[in-house]
Amino acid sequence: IGSKTLAQIRSDFPILSEKINGNPLVWLDNGATTQRPKAVIDRLSYYYEHENSNVHRGAHTLAARSTDAYENARNIVRDFIGASSSEEIVFVRGTTEAINLVANAYVKPTLEPGDEIIVSILEHHANIVPWQLIAQETGAVIKVIPCDETGQLILHEYEKLFTKRTKFVAVTHVSNVLGTVTPVEELVAIAHRHGVRILVDGAQSIAHIPVNVTALDTDFFVFSGHKIFAPTGIGVVYGKKELLESARPYHGGGNMIADVTFERTIYNAIPNKFEAGTGSIADAVGLGAALTYLSEIGMPCVFRWEHELLQYALKEMKSVKGITLVGTALNKASALAFKLDGYSDEEVGKRLDAYGIAVRTGHHCAQPVLRHFGYESVVRPTLAIYNSPDDIDALVKALKTFA
Ligand code: PMP
Repeated sequence: IGSKTLAQIRSDFPILSEKINGNPLVWLDNGATTQRPKAVIDRLSYYYEHENSNVHRGAHTLAARSTDAYENARNIVRDFIGASSSEEIVFVRGTTEAINLVANAYVKPTLEPGDEIIVSILEHHANIVPWQLIAQETGAVIKVIPCDETGQLILHEYEKLFTKRTKFVAVTHVSNVLGTVTPVEELVAIAHRHGVRILVDGAQSIAHIPVNVTALDTDFFVFSGHKIFAPTGIGVVYGKKELLESARPYHGGGNMIADVTFERTIYNAIPNKFEAGTGSIADAVGLGAALTYLSEIGMPCVFRWEHELLQYALKEMKSVKGITLVGTALNKASALAFKLDGYSDEEVGKRLDAYGIAVRTGHHCAQPVLRHFGYESVVRPTLAIYNSPDDIDALVKALKTFA
């Protein structure tokens, strides 16, 4: 896989040597969170042992070190997603905060009663509820792009949703339940043809698909560090410079200001305007280390490897008696959701855990799309770079014990 063998990649992740209930850990819960390579764990330790300080404000050596480390991480994010400037990279806690920021700072001030926001049926609750909240506050309404029977979005239905009142589109790149890879290039182009700005939720794509926000021409792109081998508590808003500049601040406080009197405040320039208070400095530095680790392997190679593994998994899982795969779009990434006849999802999840296999069961914070397919819950294995054909074989073997 790119510059490394699968065995080397696996040995980079210490937790993969854990034994769970006497069995080697098979980590197939990457959609919920990924594991961290030694490079990230070591980078966090190094930061705390040699660099720890608050950023921007200090005038001493450690403040300079931590500021350099933090800003270097921002540059790494910029390069990883192909943004044209580090000013376009805002650090937040994760995708959820990122979407709330864009909704409140950029979209909400533009909304009048009757205005419309388009989302898709595939969305995670994090890309539904923030829009509902600002819609309730302003009298705007939410419109929903439907999907076909495979779980792919229907582009001509999307086109039809645009009216003079459409103010914004927010859509996922990859469904966290079905694994559908949406046609983001077309989704962006169609929005722009109607003069509407768009946010792409990259939480489930960032670790699996090479992303170039400039080529994609998306207005906003958001993701969480913990879904791409980085610490929890750190995430990213990419926003086009002129849009971030025109947006209101999200949180008020220190760091985001240039000058404060009791009469008025002059805000700092972007991206600091959106980074009030002390952020997750070490975690941002850890995110930089994670992206560097992946860049060394090469995202196009990650993408090809995972695609091959996903095809293998789909083929093998189909041989399990009583299984129904949920989400059959041709273009899929990571997720392998299924139901097993005669067993509750909890029973399946518990038995898999007894074999050392970690998967998630439940509604996966995407109730509208699950209900569209007639389910309240599914079992969801999700792949990442370090998963092996052996992991798939272990999963399928364990599932065959139910027959
Ligand atoms: N969007 C999608 C598509 C997701 O899968 C998730 C996480 N499951 C989120 C948003 C929210 O991410 P976080 O919990 O890291 O804020």
